[in-house]
Amino acid sequence: MDLFGLTKTELEEHLMRKGLQRFRATQLLDWVYKKGKTEVDEFTNWPKKMRERYSDPSVLGLSILPLKEKLIQNSLDGTKKALLELKDGELVETVYIPESDRATVCFSSQVGCKMGCNFCATGKSGFSRDLEAGEIVGQLYYWQQTKGLRVTNAVAMGQGEPLDNWDNFLKALYIINDADCLNLGARHLTVSTCGIVPGIKKMAKEPLQVNLSVSLHAPTDELRSQIMPINRRYPLKELMEAIEEYIRETNRRVTLEYTVIPRFNDGKTNAALLIALLKDRLVHVNVIPVNPQVGEDEGESLYHAKEFVNLIKPQLNVTLRRSRGADIDAACGQLRRKVLK
Ligand code: SAH
Ligand code: SF4
Repeated sequence: MDLFGLTKTELEEHLMRKGLQRFRATQLLDWVYKKGKTEVDEFTNWPKKMRERYSDPSVLGLSILPLKEKLIQNSLDGTKKALLELKDGELVETVYIPESDRATVCFSSQVGCKMGCNFCATGKSGFSRDLEAGEIVGQLYYWQQTKGLRVTNAVAMGQGEPLDNWDNFLKALYIINDADCLNLGARHLTVSTCGIVPGIKKMAKEPLQVNLSVSLHAPTDELRSQIMPINRRYPLKELMEAIEEYIRETNRRVTLEYTVIPRFNDGKTNAALLIALLKDRLVHVNVIPVNPQVGEDEGESLYHAKEFVNLIKPQLNVTLRRSRGADIDAACGQLRRKVLK
């Protein structure tokens, strides 16, 4: 069993089945998550005999193996992107984004993605498999303990569709949130979805109140279905109803991501349609310049995104988001694609 995929209660029960006392679980988690030690030999508050006996934790039916760094890239703006290797050799991407008041980790929920959005590098690479809970937690652990960096926030905006891997993803959120594990507050966690309606409804009922971000990217079914196949399954009417249900149940504002693809989903008409769709709702719009694929011009997409913000600003709550780490292929899916090519 992968330690990083266990809740505290599960670890306690497991160790007790192996004949250890409950408090050993708290100690073990403290060494691993707070002190960054993953060798039982280093758990100095365990009696020497015990350390020797369990120096290979597989005797306890446990593996305490942090994810392996396969590649890391450092951006001039401080953003770091890592490609981590999983036990079956699959690769997963995670990004570290330091800012003055916080440090955000962007993590993946699947290897690849089934959703096939046509502007997304991950969508183009196809789907390999779901990540296990421990492989999701492991990405944050890598930045926080293996690299020793401060992590205050986490967003599920790497590869994959989190709500398409619900059980593992939800479990990972609880472990990330647990004060004895990674200890990130629910309000500092954000789930981003392309619009899996049943998943949004399930999230609305979860006691763990994380932030919800929905990738909208278009104001009509006609446009949205052209770039996001999921829209044919859950069209805008159903999606907006699910978002309203989420707001009603949680009393929380929902973020809508709007990636501007120049001359496709911007301009006056689309701005008016978006305003009509969203006004009087408890939502905030993040406008993002589409991340240029290798060789494309970044300035152009930023220019169009700014124009679009100006069009909707009088009527909607909106922020222009700059993409970070463009010089290191930090956009979702780009690094893995480069390495696999
Ligand atoms: N699958 C989830 C979360 C991962 S994608 C989702 O789609 O929401 C994270 C964000 O990156 C999404 O908002 C997605 O639309 C956006 N994205 C993907 N490719 C992009 C690109 N080329 N430029 C800008 N944003 C992109
Ligand atoms: Fe999957 Fe999100 Fe990329 Fe769409 S944008 S293909 S849902 S990772």
